[in-house]
Amino acid sequence: MSPDATLGDEQGSATLAVDLLIVGAGPVGLFGAYYAGFRGLSVALIDALPEVGGQISAMYPEKLIHDVAGFPAVRGRDLVQHLVDQAAPFSPRYLLGEQACTLSYDEDGSVLVGTDRGRSVHAQAVIITGGIGSFSPRPLPTGTEFEGRGLRYFVRELAELADQDVIIVGGGDSAFDWAQSLEPLARSVTLVHRRKAFRAHEHTVKQVLASNVEVVVDSQVTAIRGDAHADADDAHIDEVEITHVPTKEVRAIKAQAVVAALGFTADLGPLLEWGLEISERHIVVDTRMATNQPRVFAAGDITEYVGKVRLIAVGFGEVATAVNNAATVLDPNAALFPGHSTEEMT
Ligand SMILES: Cc1cc2nc3c(=O)[nH]c(=O)nc-3n(C[C@H](O)[C@H](O)[C@H](O)COP(=O)(O)OP(=O)(O)OC[C@H]3O[C@@H](n4cnc5c(N)ncnc54)[C@H](O)[C@@H]3O)c2cc1C
Repeated sequence: MSPDATLGDEQGSATLAVDLLIVGAGPVGLFGAYYAGFRGLSVALIDALPEVGGQISAMYPEKLIHDVAGFPAVRGRDLVQHLVDQAAPFSPRYLLGEQACTLSYDEDGSVLVGTDRGRSVHAQAVIITGGIGSFSPRPLPTGTEFEGRGLRYFVRELAELADQDVIIVGGGDSAFDWAQSLEPLARSVTLVHRRKAFRAHEHTVKQVLASNVEVVVDSQVTAIRGDAHADADDAHIDEVEITHVPTKEVRAIKAQAVVAALGFTADLGPLLEWGLEISERHIVVDTRMATNQPRVFAAGDITEYVGKVRLIAVGFGEVATAVNNAATVLDPNAALFPGHSTEEMT
C-alpha cells in the first residue's frame, strides 16, 4: 500500500509548493487527491504513518468492507490500492511518515504548513482529512532496534513474508487477520499474546486456532536476537525470546520476521493549535466543508456538523465537495461544478 514511485521524490526537499495540500492519506484524503487532479490542481498528501490508507491500513487491511458504493465487498487493502491507482494519473506527491504541525499564512493569503521534519509546504489551499488524528503504532517493549530490519508494524505485501518464520504479537483483529492471511504463505506463524482472552472477531479466532498457526498465550516477547546493526540489506532477525508470564519460563523461537500488532494511538495533537473551531475532537465545517480558517477545508471522519455520519462513503462525498469549493477559492472564475468525469477522461 505504499505508493513507492512518488514517495521517494519528496524525502530530501525542505520546501514544496502545490495548489492543494491534503493532511491525512486515509481513504478520504486519497480520494481527494484523485479529485484534485481531476480539477487540474497539483496536490501533495502528508501522513504521519509510513503507509497510506489511514484506519483501513492500520486496523483492518484484511477485512471485507461491504458499504462502499459500487463494491459488493472489497478487502480494505484492495480499496486502498484502488484509491492510490485512481489518483496515480495525476502524480500526487506523498509525504509519508511526516506530521503536519503548523499553519500560517503568506502575505498573499496562501497557506504555509510546517512539518515535524522541518519541511515547509506552500499551498493555495489545505484540506484536512485527518480522521481521528495522527496515528503512531504502539511500539514493542523490546527489540525496537530491529524496526525496518525484520520488525514491522504493517504488512505491506503478504508475499514479503512468504517462506519465513513469522512471529505476530497481539490479540486483536489485526493480529488475527494477519495470522490467517499469512498462514498459507509463511513457513510458520506463531501468534504471541500476553493474555488468555482475545479481542479479535470470534469467528476469525476460531479459524486461526484450527489452523497451523501456533497460538501462545499469557506470554510476551522479551528479546529479539539477530543483527540489527548491519547494513539494512544484511540486518536480520534470528530468533525471538518469549516468556510465559505466570511461570517466567523462557523459550526461543527461530524467526526472521516479527509483526507487532499492538494497536495504534491517535492524537489530533498539532491540529488543535491551528485556530480551528473544534467540537469534541472534530473540526466544525459548513456545507462547503470550509473551516473557520481561510483556505482550510476538512472532510472525512474529522469533520463535525449536525447529522454527521462517520463512514467512508460519506467522507468520499465530503472531500469531493471540499476540493470543488477549494478550486473556486484558488480561482474565483472557476465553476463549482467540475463537470462529469465521463467527459473529461478516457
Ligand atoms: C475496525 C474498523 C472497521 C471499520 N469498518 C468500516 C466499514 O465497514 N465501512 C465504513 O464506511 N467505515 C468503516 N470504518 C470507519 C472508516 O475506516 C473511517 O470512516 C475512515 O477510515 C475515515 O477515513 P479518513 O480518511 O477520514 O480518516 P482516517 O482513515 O482516520 O485517516 C486519517 C489519516 O490522517 C493522518 N493524520 C492525522 N493528523 C495528521 C497530521 N497532523 N499530520 C499528518 N497526518 C495526519 C493519520 O495518520 C491517518 O492516517 C471502520 C473503522 C474501523 C476502526
